[in-house]
Amino acid sequence: MSESRRDGTLSIVCLSGVLAGLLTLALASVACSQGSSAPSLNSSAAAVANTTPSEALPAAPADSGPLPHIDSRRAFQYIKEIVAFGTRPMGSENHKKLENYITAHLKGDQVEDDAFTADTVEGKFPVRNIIAKYPGTKDGIIVILGHYDTVYPLRNTGFVGANDGGSSTAILIEYANQLRGKKRDGYSVWLVWTDGEEAVRHWSDTDSLYGTRHLAEKWEKDGTLKKIKALLVMDMIGDADLNIERETNGTPWLLDLIYQAAGRTGYQSHFYARQGPIEDDHLPFVRRGVPSADIIDLDYGYNNVFHHSPQDTIDKLSPRSLEIVGNTTLEAIRLLDHR
Ligand SMILES: [Zn+2]
Repeated sequence: MSESRRDGTLSIVCLSGVLAGLLTLALASVACSQGSSAPSLNSSAAAVANTTPSEALPAAPADSGPLPHIDSRRAFQYIKEIVAFGTRPMGSENHKKLENYITAHLKGDQVEDDAFTADTVEGKFPVRNIIAKYPGTKDGIIVILGHYDTVYPLRNTGFVGANDGGSSTAILIEYANQLRGKKRDGYSVWLVWTDGEEAVRHWSDTDSLYGTRHLAEKWEKDGTLKKIKALLVMDMIGDADLNIERETNGTPWLLDLIYQAAGRTGYQSHFYARQGPIEDDHLPFVRRGVPSADIIDLDYGYNNVFHHSPQDTIDKLSPRSLEIVGNTTLEAIRLLDHR
């Protein structure tokens, strides 16, 4: 995602709402929507504010199953190894090394590429979405996406994207570990390491989301989109101070289901204190009617100062945040399977 995706008013107003510490989560959400001057936020937030997550929850289905558990230390180690490649923008040597790193962790899995050439304002780039498929017994697909490219305009600044690019890449590799070799009594799960999420110059509809725009179009043509029951994006989920947004471009019932999953894992306090729209890899699918959600913490350092900054380094992250998001996402998959 880029800075243009963030509404500055939203972050400041909402942070103050949270910091006040006097409001319930639900009231804090209302405060965010009332305080914002962004029309798009006001309209979407107003609709959401009337049905706070806790009120909107249906009775929990299949709530007696064992809780999932990722290996967050292993996932954190992946981030360290990914960051060690250096900056990894589309088309770079380091990007190529990371492609090989990802596929080396998918040995024996069913892996496909969606590879093409993107024509951008900075020239032509090879783009490669990497897809790993874990078949289930139910008819339908749950897609988990996360981008692995880093910001192209920051390629000469020492930017390594530990959180922005690194955390999403790593947690998907850990999901693969969790899915591999187990019989899935549920929907098929497809993991997609997306490429070209970042803009090459300035974030816009045509300069961003290169990989997912291509993939959504391809899946629309071949009929895959119709089979997708839910699509979840992981982005910037490693921040030690973890506060996942209720991202309002997403599908309300799916946002509620994620909140329900967070309740089951005991991590609800890390979810939905703030809300508002963010442009990210889910948008090409949202626009085509696929139930989608962006699991993202777009408040990285005070006033988001580490976002798209050379300060986006491993010391700002925590294995516990990967555990919070990882366990909650796996629980969300389980709830979707039983839905
Ligand atoms: Zn970014």
